[in-house]
Amino acid sequence: MSGLFTAAFLRRIGWDCDVYERSGVELVGRGAGITTHPELLHALDASGAGTRDLGIEVPKRFAIDRQGRVTAERPLRQILTSWDRLQRLLRATIDPAHYHLGWAFERVEQDGGGVRVHFNGGRVEEADILVGGDGIRSSVRSQVAPELQPIYAGYYIWRGSPNEADLAPKTLKEIFPYFVFYLPPRQEVITYPISGFNDDLRPGHRRYNFIWYRVADAATLKEMNVDERGVQHEHSVPPPLIRKDLIAQMYADARDIMPDVMLDCVMTMKQPFITPIYDVLAPRIVFGRVAMVGDAAANPRPHMGFGVAKAGNDAEALAKALDSHNDIDKALEAYNAERQPVGNTIVMHSRKLGTHMGVDLKTDEDRRMHELLQTDEAMLDWIAVPNFLDAYK
Ligand SMILES: Cc1cc2nc3c(=O)[nH]c(=O)nc-3n(C[C@H](O)[C@H](O)[C@H](O)COP(=O)(O)OP(=O)(O)OC[C@H]3O[C@@H](n4cnc5c(N)ncnc54)[C@H](O)[C@@H]3O)c2cc1C
Repeated sequence: MSGLFTAAFLRRIGWDCDVYERSGVELVGRGAGITTHPELLHALDASGAGTRDLGIEVPKRFAIDRQGRVTAERPLRQILTSWDRLQRLLRATIDPAHYHLGWAFERVEQDGGGVRVHFNGGRVEEADILVGGDGIRSSVRSQVAPELQPIYAGYYIWRGSPNEADLAPKTLKEIFPYFVFYLPPRQEVITYPISGFNDDLRPGHRRYNFIWYRVADAATLKEMNVDERGVQHEHSVPPPLIRKDLIAQMYADARDIMPDVMLDCVMTMKQPFITPIYDVLAPRIVFGRVAMVGDAAANPRPHMGFGVAKAGNDAEALAKALDSHNDIDKALEAYNAERQPVGNTIVMHSRKLGTHMGVDLKTDEDRRMHELLQTDEAMLDWIAVPNFLDAYK
């Protein structure tokens, strides 16, 4: 997302820009839901990607209890989109001749006036700048700032996106059209509708995004990262290889605690998968002629659903800085001065919301936030709401 946003914004200020993607195949078919914010809608419009058929608008959000009764409710119009839809909109802004699949960044050399970038297969490109938009485990960042490593939050999520057509009539009526929370102690379940396969927005063809936050210490996570064949993975297990005993335990836990409409979502998910939650903070996001954007620059936990908005805003700020300075180095410094503090604020805000999970509460402020977020009312007010950054202006 951040690479595509960067290319779109740089093209608009007249720069030549090439995108190098490690994956050898187009990145489509990822089912994840994406909450939108005014900042993301702005970035999509300003980049030229636009917001056509972006997603599904919900009129309100509410929380339910174990019996499925509504415990708190807020009118809140919000568009829920999907990773696929955003990728397609942004991808269409890039001339295919400038989008290179199967190129993995390996290292960068700098001489003060430009960069020489080495990719797999011995390929080398020279440029004025390198923009690292290669995600939370950025190889670019690990070269220019190896000390900055993602930190495990102490919890993970089970995710999936059951098809609308597979859900029970009660689920479709009571929760499908809405942004819904279920909040047992030290857990968060969040659900909302998203488009179906190939961005299908037709009723009956959509999906329901399901996210279930659960606590696990680092040792437990390591054990969960052993796959069905007994192979230990470092960060997470690819969805088809998740162990059957973990899925069976997840189903059993869901039967014990979930309201029936949420249990229906769990039982109809085709391939539930696990995402461990990490974050990264960075004291700098510019290193000579290398600028970081999106998750590679600073990666918040996903409680606000703001990562793609941040990626778009980083890319726009970078292009604006380059457009308004004749000197590239001064422009990059201006970008660093503007976006590094914002990235940190976003990460710190996500940690604040993460105190709901009751993990590693170090300070009085952590404990105060944890207490505050124990009510359904407070969670509706704080999680994934628009304009949360205004409080920091
Ligand atoms: C559970 C969860 C829920 C989320 N929900 C939301 C939400 O509701 N709303 C929202 O806005 N955000 C959400 N996010 C965050 C969002 O997904 C990320 O912030 C966003 O994808 C960041 O985009 P990025 O381009 O910076 O990084 P990535 O999406 O990680 O992309 C990095 C790209 O770089 C490529 N790459 C990696 N290494 C190399 C290399 N060496 N050479 C070349 N290419 C390389 C990768 O293949 C990948 O395509 C969520 C995240 C999670 C984990």
